[in-house]
Amino acid sequence: MKTYGHAPWVPEALEPVLDLAYNFWWNTDAQARRFFSRLAPGLWNEVNHNPILLLRSLTKDQKMALSVQKEICDELREIHDHMGQDLEEGGRFKLNPTVRGTSDLSIEQAPMVAYFSAEFGMHQSLPIYSGGLGILAGDHVRSASDLGLPFVGVGLLYRQGYFHQRFSLDNWQLEHFDEHGCHNLPIKQIEHDDGTPLKVTVRLPNREVKLRVWVAQVGRSSLLLLDSYLKENWHEDRNITSKLYDSDRDTRLRQEIVLGVGGVRALSALNIKPQRFHMNEGHSAFLVLERCASLMEEEGLSFPDAQERLRPSNVFTTHTPVSAGHEVFRRELMEPYFVPQLEKLQLSADEFFELGHRTGTEANGDFEMTSLAIRFSGSINGVSKLHGEVSRRQWNCMWPESSEENVPIGHVTNGIHTGVWVGPEMRRVFSHYLSPDWVSRIEDRDMWDKIDDVPADDLWEARRRQRVRLLDEVVRRAEQQLILRNVERNTLVGRITGLDSNALTIGFARRFATYKRATLLFRHIDRLKALLGNSERPVQIILAGKAHPADDGGKKLLQEVIEFTNDSDLFGRVVLLEDYDIGVARRLVQGCDVWLNTPRPPKEASGTSGMKVCPNGGLTLSTKDGWWVEGASPLNGWTIGEGWSERPEEEIDAEDAESLMSILENEIVPLFYDRDENGLPQNWIDRMRNSIKTVTPYFTTQRMVREYAEKYYR
Ligand SMILES: *Cc1c(COP(=O)(O)O)cnc(C)c1O
Repeated sequence: MKTYGHAPWVPEALEPVLDLAYNFWWNTDAQARRFFSRLAPGLWNEVNHNPILLLRSLTKDQKMALSVQKEICDELREIHDHMGQDLEEGGRFKLNPTVRGTSDLSIEQAPMVAYFSAEFGMHQSLPIYSGGLGILAGDHVRSASDLGLPFVGVGLLYRQGYFHQRFSLDNWQLEHFDEHGCHNLPIKQIEHDDGTPLKVTVRLPNREVKLRVWVAQVGRSSLLLLDSYLKENWHEDRNITSKLYDSDRDTRLRQEIVLGVGGVRALSALNIKPQRFHMNEGHSAFLVLERCASLMEEEGLSFPDAQERLRPSNVFTTHTPVSAGHEVFRRELMEPYFVPQLEKLQLSADEFFELGHRTGTEANGDFEMTSLAIRFSGSINGVSKLHGEVSRRQWNCMWPESSEENVPIGHVTNGIHTGVWVGPEMRRVFSHYLSPDWVSRIEDRDMWDKIDDVPADDLWEARRRQRVRLLDEVVRRAEQQLILRNVERNTLVGRITGLDSNALTIGFARRFATYKRATLLFRHIDRLKALLGNSERPVQIILAGKAHPADDGGKKLLQEVIEFTNDSDLFGRVVLLEDYDIGVARRLVQGCDVWLNTPRPPKEASGTSGMKVCPNGGLTLSTKDGWWVEGASPLNGWTIGEGWSERPEEEIDAEDAESLMSILENEIVPLFYDRDENGLPQNWIDRMRNSIKTVTPYFTTQRMVREYAEKYYR
C-alpha cells in the first residue's frame, strides 16, 4: 500500500516543495515558515497559511517564474535537506543526556503507541480542532516525532471542521461552516497499490458504513483521519465526519463509534500493531470494546479474561472536572447500535450498559464514556497536579473500597510544543544567546539560566516587535471583520487607531465557557475605565474566543464583552478579535505583555495558553488553577484570589474580581511603566527572565510525552 495525493502541479525545480507542504514539519521550522510566507506574501495570508492551497492558487506562469529564481530553488533545497536530516535522526530518543537523568528508556524498548483523539490541532490549515484538547493533541504528536517515539495518531476528518465565528448586528455569535475540499488540505488519501482507496467498515443498524483513511504527516509521526463522506454510504452516514462535536446526539454517537471502532480497524487494515492505545479524553473509548471483541474471537477468551489482558495496554487521560466534558449517551439511543452485536462480547444488555455506569450513582440510563474508559485502562491520569487530585476525588466512586489518596489516577502535567509557539524575535534571542539548538535542549535548565545574560534592551526590543506584529494583525483582521459586518468606516477607524505599540497589552483568549469567567475583568467597570483611560500609562486589552454552538451562556458572555468594546470610554482600547483559531492564538500569545486567566478553581484542568505566553516574554495573571498552581512563583507572574474553595461561587467571584483589579492597579501597571533613564522597565524585564527560565523548560510537550513514555507507555 502506498499513499498518494492529488498534489498540486509544480515545475520540476520546485518539486521538493511538495514534501514540505505535505508534512507539518514545515510549521516547526522557522526557515521553512519564512520560505512559504515569502513565495507570495499577500496570497499566503489569503489562503490562511495553507501551503497546498497556496500552490493551487498560484498560476502556472507564477510557478514557472518562481522556479527559475536561483535563490528560491537554493533555499528550497537547503530546507528540504534539513528536513531529511531531521527526520532521519529518528529511531531513538533525541534527548540531551544531561537533562534526562538516569532514565534508560531506549527506542528498542519503546512500544508503538496509537493515540486517539476526537480533535487534533496541528495548524489552522487543518481545522479539525476546537480548543485546548485539540491543540494539546497536536503538540503531543509533534513531540512524539521529535523524540523518535513509534507513534500514530487516530482522529476524524471533519469535512466542515469547527465553525467560523461571525456576529449578528446585535452581537450574538453566529456559526458559519465551510466545506473544505479535502484535496486542498495538507493530507493524503491512503490507497491500495492499484490506486483504489483503502476502506474500512463499521457495522451500524441495518447497514455498514465505509470509511476512507487519510494521513497527515507530522515529522516522523503519522496522523490517520477517518472520513465517511463516500457515495456508497447512506446519506446520513456521509455526514458522520462532517462537523466537529456535532450537537445531534445520534450523529455524535456514530462519530464516536467511527473513531473508536473504525480507528482500531484502520490500524489493523494498515497492519499497524500498536502496543499501547492512548485515549485522549473519553470520546474514543469504544475502542476498548472493539479490541476486546477481537481478542475474544482470536484467542477464544471470555469477556473478563480479555478485559484483564487488555487493561495494561490501554491508557486513558481525562481532561476536565466539568461534568459536561464527560460524555454520556442515553441507553435508548445506544441500544440499536450495540445490542444486536453483544454476542461477540458474550454480554447481556444489562451487563453491557453496566460498563458505562458510574459506580455508586443511581442507574439512570446514561452510558458514560469516562466510566467505560476507566474500567478498561491500566493507566489513568489527569493533566496537572491539582487536576490529578480533583480527579481522584471525582472518580473515587469507581473504587469504593479505596481512600481518595489511593485512587489509581495519577497526573502528567500538560505542556506545549514550544518551537511552534515562540515568535520570530524571541526565537532569535534564544538562538543567539542560549543555543542555536535551544528547541531540542528545551528541558535543559542550565541553558535557560543564561537568559539572565541577555541584555535588557535586546529582550525588550524583541518583546516590542512581537507586540507590533500582533497589533498589525489586529488591524488587518479588524478591517476584514467589521467590513463583513457592515460597520461604518468611522467605527472601524476608531477601533484600531487607538492601539498603541508601546502600551501595556493584556490578552484574554480562550473558549467562552462560563467557568472561565471572561467578564470578571469588567466587573469593576469604573476602575477599569480609569485604568484604560490614563493616557500617560496606556493599557489595552485584546480578547478572542468562541462559545460552543450549544452554549447560550457562553454566547451571552461574548455579547456582553462586545458591548463593552463598544462603550465610548473603552472604545479602541478593548478589542475583540473574531474567529479565534491557531493563527490568531499564535499572534496573541507572542504579542501580549500580560496573559489573563480567570477560571473558577478547580475547573481548569490545566490550560495551556498561558504556557505559550511565557517563552514569548509575556507574564501570567491567573487564578490558582490548573498548570499555574505548579508554574507560579512570586517572581514570574501574579496570582488572583485564594484558589480552590467550597464557598459559594458568587462570593469567590466577587473576591477574585477585586483581587484581579487591585493587582492591575497596584502592581502590574506601575511595574510596566517604572522606567530607567533609557526607558527600560528593568524590574519588569527581570520578571520576564524569571518567567522564561522557570516555565519554559518544564511546561513543554517534550517533557510531557517523555513522562507518558516513561510512566505509562513502557
Ligand atoms: C492554546 C490554545 C487553546 C487552549 O487555551 P486554554 O487557555 O488552555 O483554554 C485553545 N485554543 C487555541 C486556538 C489555542 O491555541
